[in-house]
Amino acid sequence: MKGHYQEDPWSIIEEGFHPSKQEASESIFSLGNGRMGQRANFEEQYSGESLQGTYLAGVYYPDKTRVGWWKNGYPEYFAKVLNAPNWIGIHVEIGGEVLDLHTCELKEFRRELNMRHGYLERTFSVLIQQKVLNIRVRRFLSMKRDEVGAIRYAIRSLDFSGSIAFTPYLDGNVVNRDSNYDEHFWEMVECGAGTGTGYLLAKTRKSGFVSCLTMGYEVEVERKRVKPKARLIERSDYAANRISVKVSEGDEVVFYKYASVLSSMNHDPLSMVETGKSVLNEAMAAGFDMLFDEHAIIWESNWAHSDIIIKGDTAAQQGIRFNIFQLNQTYTGKDERLNIGPKGFTGEKYGGSTYWDTEAYMIPFYLSTATPDVARNLLVYRYKHLERAIENGEKLGFSGGAALYPMVTMNGEECHNEWEITFEEIHRNGAIAFAIFNYIRYTGDRHYLAECGLEVLIGISRFWSQRVSWSEEKEKYVMLGVTGPNEYENNVNNNWYTNKIASWTLTYTLDALDQVKNFDRAAYDKILRQTGFDFEAETKAWIHISGNLHFPFHKEAGVFLQQDGYMDKQQVMAADLEPAQRPINQHWSWDRILRSCFIKQADVLQGIYLFEDEYDSETIRRNFDFYEPRTVHESSLSPCVHSILASRLGNEDKAYEMYLRTSRLDLDDYNNEVDEGLHITSMGGTWMSVVYGFGGMKIRDGLLSFDPRLPGKWRGLSFTILYRGTVLKIIIEKAKVTIENMEGSAQDLYVKETLSHLEPNGSVVADL
Ligand code: BGC
Repeated sequence: MKGHYQEDPWSIIEEGFHPSKQEASESIFSLGNGRMGQRANFEEQYSGESLQGTYLAGVYYPDKTRVGWWKNGYPEYFAKVLNAPNWIGIHVEIGGEVLDLHTCELKEFRRELNMRHGYLERTFSVLIQQKVLNIRVRRFLSMKRDEVGAIRYAIRSLDFSGSIAFTPYLDGNVVNRDSNYDEHFWEMVECGAGTGTGYLLAKTRKSGFVSCLTMGYEVEVERKRVKPKARLIERSDYAANRISVKVSEGDEVVFYKYASVLSSMNHDPLSMVETGKSVLNEAMAAGFDMLFDEHAIIWESNWAHSDIIIKGDTAAQQGIRFNIFQLNQTYTGKDERLNIGPKGFTGEKYGGSTYWDTEAYMIPFYLSTATPDVARNLLVYRYKHLERAIENGEKLGFSGGAALYPMVTMNGEECHNEWEITFEEIHRNGAIAFAIFNYIRYTGDRHYLAECGLEVLIGISRFWSQRVSWSEEKEKYVMLGVTGPNEYENNVNNNWYTNKIASWTLTYTLDALDQVKNFDRAAYDKILRQTGFDFEAETKAWIHISGNLHFPFHKEAGVFLQQDGYMDKQQVMAADLEPAQRPINQHWSWDRILRSCFIKQADVLQGIYLFEDEYDSETIRRNFDFYEPRTVHESSLSPCVHSILASRLGNEDKAYEMYLRTSRLDLDDYNNEVDEGLHITSMGGTWMSVVYGFGGMKIRDGLLSFDPRLPGKWRGLSFTILYRGTVLKIIIEKAKVTIENMEGSAQDLYVKETLSHLEPNGSVVADL
């Protein structure tokens, strides 16, 4: 799909209507506001291929999984992200003919996702009864009032005169494409229409979430408010008003639809209709323009904290803004019960919301672009799930408070059931531990350890200490039967990355115990009591394990070996694969993939990226040069880590190639699946590839450090970082880097290896 969307620094633009790409564009033009999201489905009827998608944060259905080969330890259910009742619908008839872009004669079509101000606009012309009408539709999901959506649907008749009918509706008759038995997941509770209004109350089967939609509308003809008589339509799952206006040639009729969308995550179901109506009434009293202005102001402020400016490369600029835009509209950090699903609010795939993606790829973005409470809420989410992680461990036979966090979850319960992932892809536990460390080293909030972090670390370390076993033959601890980040091989022994993160967690937990003991003795005693911690025995075991874990190594190549036996595989390079065979996961049997040496995503390199300071450049280079050519990057999470390491190694071309791949993964549809939704979690990785990769940012001896490398094509790169109450602006040009202290206290930092002191409002410049 390369080149399908126009390059523009602030917008995604599609010219011309391409029905075969409609579902892809529905993903690309999705909107969200942290509380709800909406694929870019049309308001009016569309009878062509379309994936309907309205999503409410935290609302899911516990679907029974359809497997006869049940295994002990499998979860009870698979949480499905639900397509929720439709609030956007406006059925339009012009001169008695239904407006349907699949069947109408279309003269022009353009849609634009305006990222600066967070709205979607469609402009098109249709020929109906040989007459031309120009239509412009704008919609947004308010960032200010996150339960409100608004649509402005304007039709200008060029030479048509007659009636135009609008039927705004709320529709509970919605389905998921991803459902086992074509089930309906919603049950209607109540539904009704009044003149100018409608409401719909629906409840999810089994999980019992209630969602309440209300709608209202206004109509203007030639800028004058009119109040056409409404015909009310009520069915058990549908509430609508049908109104009709007369237009003459040249007239413009503007239809405004407002909706409030509430869920029982935040409201008492018994009073939700009343609350929904008052949210709606307040929104309508403000009106479309004011709602839009207050929404746009929030986007302006989001960009002030998180924008990245790339000079001299519009494709790269558009790519990074698209990623940042999606991150900001998916998670706003207001609610510690919410997390970030791999598809965010843009598709159904990957039921459940939380993967290791959050800790490994998302936290860095929120740490640097938002106040610390945002990233903290993501950590607290896991803290609140500790009991369930311990129960999950018990289900698999672990004991004594050993915590295994789920591979996929909504509320702390595991909802993934492929044994080779659910039971074996346990490196996720390590990412959760690392995120605690990362949060504290970035924010300096060491109290988090005493308040929540240490308990989580103890649970995870207990798991690792039980998961390893002693090999008499190797005289080392080994970790058998795991799946590393590379899911293209399962049930391997001694995955280097998993062993590395496990051993690191044990050591960090020992350090965390020490820290809490020193700065908050009361909390320390309480945690030890509550967790029943046997200090002598447990810490002794952890020290022994972390010092004696087996790390596979390949002597001839001088690289850490991804897992025992990796070199038994026939060694073929990804570049030698026929292009027609890629992505291999869409062309090869799973068996063939498992036997091949191809690596789905960074695995050994993921570990080197996390613990870079432990390795010299030659070691990093040898491992990069060995693993990258064997990697097919068929996980969206892969290119970003490769881009960062390639930058570090000065391999500019590879860093740039991988950057484009991560930042334009969806815009250019590299993995041929954007119709299913966007890869939201990898977008955090894109941000890392710019700031950590090209910006060369890291934390060194407790201080920020920058060592930038600008890709040859770029004239400049600048970004803003929030760090411990200070706002820093980093401006990278060809020959120099400037760091400005925009707001906050003085900071010491490293710029190109040199320790610098940055006064408030001061700046430091270094040659590149
Ligand atoms: C990746 C996992 C990731 C999941 C969700 C898979 O394709 O291999 O690492 O957690 O997608 O993004």
